[in-house]
This record gives sequence, structure tokens and C-alpha cells, in this order.
Amino acid sequence: MTNEEIWKSILAQIQLNVSPAIFTTWFKSTSIFSIENGEVTIAAPNLFAKEWLEQKYHKQTLKFLRDTDPSIREVLFRVIKNHIPAAVTPASTPTHAAPGQIGFDEYKLNKNTNLNPKYNFDCFIVGPHNELAHAAAWAVAKNPGMVYNPLFVYGGVGLGKTHLLQSIGNEVLAKFNEKKVRYIPTEKLTSEIISAIRGGTIESLRAKYLDTAVFIIDDIQFISGKERTQDEFFYLFNSLYNKNLQIILSSDRAPKAIPELSDRLRSRFEGGMIADVSQPDFETRVAILKTKCQQLNIVFSDEILSNIASVVQSNVRELEGVLTKMAAHAKFKNIAPSMELCQSVLSSVNPKKTVNLKKIIQEAVNFYDLKEKDIMSDSRKKEIVKPRQIVMYLLREELNASFPFIGRKMGNKDHTTVMHAYKKISSEIKTNEDFQEEINLLKQKIYNS
Ligand code: ADP
Ligand code: MG
Repeated sequence: MTNEEIWKSILAQIQLNVSPAIFTTWFKSTSIFSIENGEVTIAAPNLFAKEWLEQKYHKQTLKFLRDTDPSIREVLFRVIKNHIPAAVTPASTPTHAAPGQIGFDEYKLNKNTNLNPKYNFDCFIVGPHNELAHAAAWAVAKNPGMVYNPLFVYGGVGLGKTHLLQSIGNEVLAKFNEKKVRYIPTEKLTSEIISAIRGGTIESLRAKYLDTAVFIIDDIQFISGKERTQDEFFYLFNSLYNKNLQIILSSDRAPKAIPELSDRLRSRFEGGMIADVSQPDFETRVAILKTKCQQLNIVFSDEILSNIASVVQSNVRELEGVLTKMAAHAKFKNIAPSMELCQSVLSSVNPKKTVNLKKIIQEAVNFYDLKEKDIMSDSRKKEIVKPRQIVMYLLREELNASFPFIGRKMGNKDHTTVMHAYKKISSEIKTNEDFQEEINLLKQKIYNS
């Protein structure tokens, strides 16, 4: 068997043992780099994947390798960029959208807990942007009330807070179904408290809440400025806490940044574990898209997925939106998802944020650690020529500027120089994946900073 065949068979076994999300996130881009004297070196695409594989999947990988070849003694993970991974064929290869199925499956809320079963750890993709929050959530799900209390997760909209919090709830329910789990958005908690106070039923509301082993309160920032609710919540918090019951909170900002929050509540919120979720990086966005495609039962080319991931950067909800929309269009028009369709959906959902010439030049100069006058100069030094061509390309691509205009702004160059630069960079982006990623990263800086 070649190394590629060995790894293919190992991946096939691993695929059966881990969730699709885990597989896509951690294993999809790996390969065997070498096998020497019983030592197998696995190529991982980045440091983060390498460390994660080492920590979580070393034993399992070694076992599978040994089952295949008993002379194998050790497995090592190394970061090796661009090592060609063994192609993995999914268990079934759906074509485009299956009939009658466009959106994500509908799920029923659990009446007792208010949890949505679609939010679970299996379909939650982990990346550098949410690693800490995920690890903390997982630890809490395994040992509610024992490790971090409260767990406070914060971050911007659409970045997976609700998904993560509900995953804890669903995991606890699945593992220890006698535990009482309760999920409640803060607005609902507030209105329950207010009407209980009005109706004189606060005692029974307290009793109901105190019966909860895992109490999940989403978007706690909405308690801001509501004094009476804060008082009651402080009482509830302490009662739960003193009984070692787990409290989990989410917010769009850190406790110290929530306005009009009583000091005593703020210090309670800060008393356990605080973890943030930020925007996923490009690789993670692609991994998320791949998992969502599996859920949607639709296949999009890697080119399309990279394109979506490079344009939609701010949050995961938007990423999902684009996929669902594309799937719907493809089905409606009965066509395979194409790059053109992708572009048109993207331009309808994500009108380009305003960028200007100055911003593009500034970010590129920072990115390549140059001075603006270098970019504008006539220097033929390689480390200056390339960034200069990239800037020309971006001015054309992002601003739709004319070649003569770009030439004038870039230190009075001839328009043919700009045309040449544009062609050169466009074709390199198409043929060199690393370079494509570099440009995506630069675009991210331009649009997000
Ligand atoms: P928030 O509560 O932070 O506003 P949500 O939890 O509602 O965000 O997430 C928005 C959508 O994005 C949900 O459909 C969720 O399933 C999805 N999502 C967010 N982060 C991830 C992730 N890491 N892996 C998979 N899906 C995610
Ligand atoms: Mg939410």
C-alpha cells in the first residue's frame, strides 16, 4: 500500500468514529508525510490543527495505523503547508440539492427545557476564534456545577454563542437526563420576573428556577438598566450558586462593558470563567461552510466555498444565509451551483463595504511591511514589485478603477503596466492556492480594520 492508500483507509475509519464537523475541521486536510523506521509523520495544515490532533487524536490515530501495519511504533504531527492530502470520498455523494429539501432541517423545541436539539457539539466547528469558549463549554457539559461557575461567553452577533450554550444543555440532557436543564433568553426571564412581581407569585417563580441544575441565560446584556430584574436575578444567582448548580450566561460584550449593571452582579459574572468568541478565520469559515453543506445535503466546489468565505467574513449566520440562498436558487432554477450564481447571491446579500484607494494602499503597505513611497517608486526589487502589482490588482478588482487612473495614482505608471500587473496577479490567484489565501487575508484586513 502506498502512504496515500494507508492514510485513506485510516481516514475512512476515523470518519466513522467522529462527527462530520470534527472530521472536516481536523482531518480533512491531513496526509502522511513520511513513514520511516516505524515512525509515521502526519502533515497538518497549520499549527492549530497540529496541536489539536496531537492532544486529542494521537492515541486513536496510532491505534488505527497499528491495526493496518503492526510495525508502526509512533505517530508524529507536523505542520507542513500544501502537502497534498489523500482525496477523501464522502460516504455518499449527493449531487445538488435533493428534491424538496432546501433549508436546514426544522427541529422542535424541547418544551421542558426550551432547548433546540439542532444546536449540539457535533455540528459546532472549533477554530482559533472560539477554542477557549468551546473547551470551557465542553468541560461544563461534562461536569455541570463543578468546574467553572458561572461560565460567561461573550462575543458579537452570529458568532455561535447561542449554539454553544444550547450545546451544553443538550449534552447534559443526553448524558444525565435526570438533570433539569433550562434555557431562557434574558428578555423572557425579565418578563417572567416582572409579571411574577406584579402578580405576587415571585415565590413560586423562585421555586421553579431553583429546581434547575443547569440554568442557561442567553443575551444577559439585556438586563442592563432593569433594576428590579437585576435585584431578583442577583438573589436567584446566589441561590443557584450556593447549591452548586451550574449557571451559564452569554452576552454581546464582557461584563465590565455592560452599562447600567449593578456592581454586585458584575462581580458575580466575573467570578467564574469568561471566554470570548470572535470572528472565525478564513480556514474555519471554509470548514463551517463544508459542514453546513453536509447538513444541507448539497455539494459546492471548493472554489465556490472559498469565494463565499473570502467575501462573508463577519459572522457565521451570514455564511449560512448565503449557502441556503444559493441552494434555493440552484434548486429553483434547476442548475448546478456555479461561480456565477455564487457571485450574484453574494452581491445581493453582501454589498461591498466602502473602501477607498487610500485604505487599500495603506493596508497593503502595512501587510507587506513597506513604505508607501516604495510602492509608488519605480524600484524593480522583487519584494516591492509584487506588492505594487497586488495593489494595482486590488484597485481594479475592488474599486473598479480604470487602468489609466490606477497608473496615475500609483506614481504615474503607464496603463499597460497596470494591465500587465492585473493579468499577472489574477492568473496567479487562480493557480496558486497559497497566494489566493494571502490575497484573501489582505482583503480581510482592508474590509475589517
Ligand atoms: P449568536 O448567538 O452568537 O448570535 P448563533 O449561535 O445564533 O450566534 O449562531 C448563528 C448561526 O451560526 C447558527 O445557525 C449557528 O448554528 C451557526 N454557527 C455559529 N458558529 C458556529 C460554529 N462554530 N460551527 C457551526 N455553526 C456555527
Ligand atoms: Mg444568540
